[in-house]
Amino acid sequence: MVMVSAIGRVDVKMKGVLWAQTSQERQVSAPPLDADKDVDLVVVGAGFAGLSVALHAAKAGLSVCVLEAGIVGVGASGRNGGFAVPHFPGGMKPSDVEIRLGKKKGGDLISLVAGGPEWMFNQIRQYQIECNMSQKGWAQPAHSEKSLAKIRAIHDEWKALGVEVEWLERPDVQPTLGAHGYLAAWRNMSGGTVQPYALCLGLARVATAEGAVIHERSSVTRTLREDGGPVAYCNGYRVTAKQIVIATNGYTDDLTPNLEKTGIPVRLFHCATEPLPPEVVDKVLPRRMCFTDLRKSGGFSRCDSDGRLISGGAVFSVPGARAYGLAHARNRLYTLFPQLREVAPKIETYWEGYCSITDSYLPSFQVVDRDIYSLIGFSTRGVSLAQNIGRVVGEFAAGKCGLEDIPLEIVQGTRSISMHGFKTRVGRLIFPLYQSMDRFGLS
Ligand SMILES: Cc1cc2nc3c(=O)[nH]c(=O)nc-3n(C[C@H](O)[C@H](O)[C@H](O)COP(=O)(O)OP(=O)(O)OC[C@H]3O[C@@H](n4cnc5c(N)ncnc54)[C@H](O)[C@@H]3O)c2cc1C
Repeated sequence: MVMVSAIGRVDVKMKGVLWAQTSQERQVSAPPLDADKDVDLVVVGAGFAGLSVALHAAKAGLSVCVLEAGIVGVGASGRNGGFAVPHFPGGMKPSDVEIRLGKKKGGDLISLVAGGPEWMFNQIRQYQIECNMSQKGWAQPAHSEKSLAKIRAIHDEWKALGVEVEWLERPDVQPTLGAHGYLAAWRNMSGGTVQPYALCLGLARVATAEGAVIHERSSVTRTLREDGGPVAYCNGYRVTAKQIVIATNGYTDDLTPNLEKTGIPVRLFHCATEPLPPEVVDKVLPRRMCFTDLRKSGGFSRCDSDGRLISGGAVFSVPGARAYGLAHARNRLYTLFPQLREVAPKIETYWEGYCSITDSYLPSFQVVDRDIYSLIGFSTRGVSLAQNIGRVVGEFAAGKCGLEDIPLEIVQGTRSISMHGFKTRVGRLIFPLYQSMDRFGLS
């Protein structure tokens, strides 16, 4: 199997990506870096995390330069499903987070995640970003007895924390979500969906208006300390800064030794049906509420503003991966929505992207060197989380808060994930096993 370098995964053509074809926000025009520079803050990567760091640091008065290897939103941020979820990845409970991070940081991260979509939707409204936001709630339904016990515990913990969540018994799930076969569900009405690429472009527009300067097609090859301060090397030029934040997530290379090994890149695919008439969408997602279950092979649904249904999973990295993924997506849609069989919608688009996971499934903030930081590991919860954490990190860079206020584990230096190469390879082949686990009720 060929290992593709992180930068080799960046596809500026956004091949097949639905969101690049339907964005109402205009593409930014950001020239490549073509001279040496000196700024307060360099941000590497123009996804949700990097753009949010840049926006909030620029708003606080810093001179900011964003260096993006491809184009704005080319990474996971312009390719994801657009689910804004007020919850942690998978079956993780708030108490698991508190055990991992301690009472103070754990509590801060729990609050940030619970309020994350609400804050994000408010920011979209404030800056009038045209990204088809829809705040009609997010639900986590149970597809098996095993997942029922998990979602009950998750719901009960959020409720005990005072978060507005609601339990749906079996007879209420299908009329609410439209999907069949679920045993129960919990929901939080603050969740919802966005057009993720348009949101990236909107964030870039706003960050630029706040004074940040973005350079596309500007791949950073090295970050280090030289002459007493941080330096980024890019396009043959040298950018000196007071601080550097590396926000390259699933596209992370060794900009500094061993950085690539601090997150596992996970290759995911999404696809979208042709637009369905409103009367069909009414039967499939009657309240337009999005949901994500605990199936390891991806049980989720939403529609876009034109009535396309989105489906997907992890890429099974063998020849024929696309056909395998499309067959999976079609079957999953029919399992969730048998009412779709008579319509038999065409699946029109297929695209892939990389997210990054850490051992804890939570992002980490690494103090790579003095004044050089890395933010990695947003898993499949980066839509609101990466923007929220980005805001805090932007404020940290501007001196408005301290390291202790960043609600993540702070790693001094870089921490490589054990057996990184092995785990990365296994991740590329594990999808059929996940499908079997789901089939036999083991997830
Ligand atoms: C298919 C898919 C579906 C997903 N669905 C959801 C979802 O519905 N909800 C959710 O919450 N999360 C979802 N996620 C996860 C979410 O998209 C990510 O967690 C989030 O976008 C991460 O944002 P980021 O800014 O950290 O990284 P990215 O958006 O990946 O940005 C990293 C950027 O760094 C740039 N870069 C890399 N190396 C360099 C370099 N050397 N120099 C300059 N630039 C560089 C890349 O080009 C890229 O633009 C999904 C992910 C995928 C792939």
